[in-house]
Amino acid sequence: MADTLGVEWATRWIEGCAAAAAEHRDELIDLDREIGDADHGENVDRGFRKVTEALGAQAPGSVDELLKLVAKTLISTVGGASGPLLGTAFLRASKAAKAAESGELGAGDAAALIEAALEGIQSRGHAEEGEKTMVDTWAPAARAAREAADGGASPAEVLRAAAEAAAQGAEATIPLKATKGRASYLGERSVGHKDPGATSSAYFLAAAAAAADAAKGGE
Ligand code: ADP
Ligand code: MG
Repeated sequence: MADTLGVEWATRWIEGCAAAAAEHRDELIDLDREIGDADHGENVDRGFRKVTEALGAQAPGSVDELLKLVAKTLISTVGGASGPLLGTAFLRASKAAKAAESGELGAGDAAALIEAALEGIQSRGHAEEGEKTMVDTWAPAARAAREAADGGASPAEVLRAAAEAAAQGAEATIPLKATKGRASYLGERSVGHKDPGATSSAYFLAAAAAAADAAKGGE
């Protein structure tokens, strides 16, 4: 049981997302000012503050219940495009966690959770890779996670591989031309800027990996 991810991990993950949204609020606002409407940092920071409040009030007892509460809170409190997109990601992640037999996630379950989040984002926003959106973060993360899990990695290693691929994916949005979302209105002028949603998602996946490392050291 030691090498699985449970509700303590999920709690730490979401705390890490909230901390990252607060820490990077201004950076994400600046990125969104370049190719959007300068609210992405505010949107995710507000959303995860509300999530922190909701978790403080309810303290869900399982990974799937916790992620479901995150999803519902993001969907109901984030007005921008990113609210329903990230909300759907967490809702699908919740369903994937529920499918894990023991309620604790092994390496394959951790990969399935990220794959499910990606599917949620794509079912909601219909973006493919290369369109300069958060899909460019989650898609390589999902591939790296699955590859690591298939190669016998631990859950923490799966999340570390996902986080590294996510960071590279976000960086790789810089030369892309946006063809989905608000940035697509800029056409060629969107080239040369890092996508804000891809950037925040990379922070959220880094938080997932950090939470797993903390679990390993602290339990
Ligand atoms: P808004 O665009 O409504 O102001 P945000 O600024 O909070 O919302 O979020 C913008 C981010 O949402 C973009 O940087 C991009 O990553 C993501 N995004 C927008 N449209 C889509 C889509 N169709 N699929 C995936 N991600 C998208
Ligand atoms: Mg915006």
